[in-house]
Amino acid sequence: MRPASTHDAVVIGAGPAGTSAALALARRGWSVAIVEKNVFPRRKVCGEYISASNLALLERLEVGDAWRAEAGPEIRRVGLFSGDTCVEAPMPGAKSGSAARDGFGRALGRDVLDSLLLDAARSAGAEVFQPRRAVAIERDGACQAVRVQPGAGNSRDEATILRAPVIVAAHGSWEPGPLPSQLEKKSRSSDLLGFKAHFTGSTLPPDLMPLLTFPGGYGGMVLADRGRMSISCCIRRDVLARLRGTHAREHGGQVSAAETVEHHLRATCRGARDALEEARLDGPWLAAGPIRPGIRAGYERDIFRVGNVAGESHPIIAEGISMALQSGWILALELAAAATGQAEREAVGRRYETAWRGLFSTRVLAAEAIARIALGHGGAAMMGAVVRNFPQALTLGARLSGKTRAVPGFG
Ligand SMILES: Cc1cc2nc3c(=O)[nH]c(=O)nc-3n(C[C@H](O)[C@H](O)[C@H](O)COP(=O)(O)OP(=O)(O)OC[C@H]3O[C@@H](n4cnc5c(N)ncnc54)[C@H](O)[C@@H]3O)c2cc1C
Repeated sequence: MRPASTHDAVVIGAGPAGTSAALALARRGWSVAIVEKNVFPRRKVCGEYISASNLALLERLEVGDAWRAEAGPEIRRVGLFSGDTCVEAPMPGAKSGSAARDGFGRALGRDVLDSLLLDAARSAGAEVFQPRRAVAIERDGACQAVRVQPGAGNSRDEATILRAPVIVAAHGSWEPGPLPSQLEKKSRSSDLLGFKAHFTGSTLPPDLMPLLTFPGGYGGMVLADRGRMSISCCIRRDVLARLRGTHAREHGGQVSAAETVEHHLRATCRGARDALEEARLDGPWLAAGPIRPGIRAGYERDIFRVGNVAGESHPIIAEGISMALQSGWILALELAAAATGQAEREAVGRRYETAWRGLFSTRVLAAEAIARIALGHGGAAMMGAVVRNFPQALTLGARLSGKTRAVPGFG
């Protein structure tokens, strides 16, 4: 006889996509397992800015008050720091469906945000398997079986099998692995590698989030919680290798990739240099990637995908957390309204993909276009010239990238 399912749904990954799906399903009475390979709290490569359009959703997930209590200041201005250019313009306000005070986004460290969401999912009844890594998904009659092994720093526990009719892949897109939903590993010289650090004592104005451009990459800075300034960026693999080679030839000895990135930022971007002048590094630099921008399947091989694994915008628009939270939510709404047989899952998959594309395609494409300009030859200089003459282009860009777009059902 086949073993019965252990849960109604198994969610792999406890980033914002996985926890938002798990939380929404658990609150609707589903029995949900979340599998997360890392111990929390953990820092993560991310700029940590969340658009105001998510605030009503955070409230619906019942983490709005905690988020408001923890997050950094309201970001009322968007900027561009490129070479010697430092321009700023108003951030468009969003109607998030809640009080008018929620018109602006804020940043919250991923060590805090992800723990907050996971704790909320646990309180809503989700069973959390952590640190545990999902290493295989196999069909098992009407269910699928997820093989789960001990994760980071935990080698004593046995492997476990979790069975459910609904499997949600929320493991992000930057790491290859054996799961059918994980992306193939490819390495190209044009790959963008992600870096991030926290600094304290930065002189960056607390309500300003500038986009940074520099040769071979782009990034952003924003004041997050507890006075920490979050700086994050992407740089081409070949440019980084060249910079490290040059440093080794001129000064002898290798420097780390992160040190090279920080040096490059300070040397080529006046606004970043000024903001970091009196700042102190708070914790080590982190690296990840390559990032995998693009639109992918939302449902494939009977596995639902949310967050980055379903599709990813260039982080130049800082919308990845929004897309993760919102995709988890819209999938949960579709799932909760349907039975869980295979035919119903396929129908849910089609509706979810349609909703995903309606909500996110424009910002993925807008981000691609902005990133191409920033990374292209002479593109950053052109961006600088345009926004110097027409700063409102920054406000327009923020609007185009989805910063004011309401989540379905939140008006
Ligand atoms: C430089 C940079 C700056 C950025 N800045 C911003 C920003 O300011 N604002 C914004 O909105 N977005 C930003 N983003 C994008 C944002 O970080 C991502 O889009 C977001 O983290 C995606 O969330 P997710 O839940 O899909 O995946 P993730 O956050 O990657 O979470 C996936 C989780 O799954 C776990 N996992 C992976 N594999 C397994 C497995 N096999 N078993 C169990 N667990 C597993 C991981 O440990 C992780 O906790 C930035 C990205 C980069 C690279």
